[in-house]
Amino acid sequence: MTTDTPAPTGARPLDEAVTTTVADLQRTRYLRRLLATREVLAKTYRERFSHELPDVLLALDALAACEDAIEREFPEVHARLYSTWCVNLGEGAHEPGEYDPACGICRARAPQHLDAA
Ligand SMILES: [Zn+2]
Repeated sequence: MTTDTPAPTGARPLDEAVTTTVADLQRTRYLRRLLATREVLAKTYRERFSHELPDVLLALDALAACEDAIEREFPEVHARLYSTWCVNLGEGAHEPGEYDPACGICRARAPQHLDAA
């Protein structure tokens, strides 16, 4: 048996396989960061909407820009998740004046005794 045996058809040299794996891991990490950022921006939008803050449209623009980046970089992921994002965007919002312990703005504005309950 010689060491010059050609690789089976379809097999990649080891260095290419490692490079592809690292690139895949980086791409996966990038996707996870985009999705995590999108969740933060969606929560920010819901909270600012719930409190009728004047910069709510800026939050919506930031959310749309993040979703656009996901669509551009990962169109298959965007196509799979977009309808769910649209349906869930209002989940977790509350009426103005209501207290929601899951809302960061409510918690920041609440007197201390409300958080202790
Ligand atoms: Zn709130």
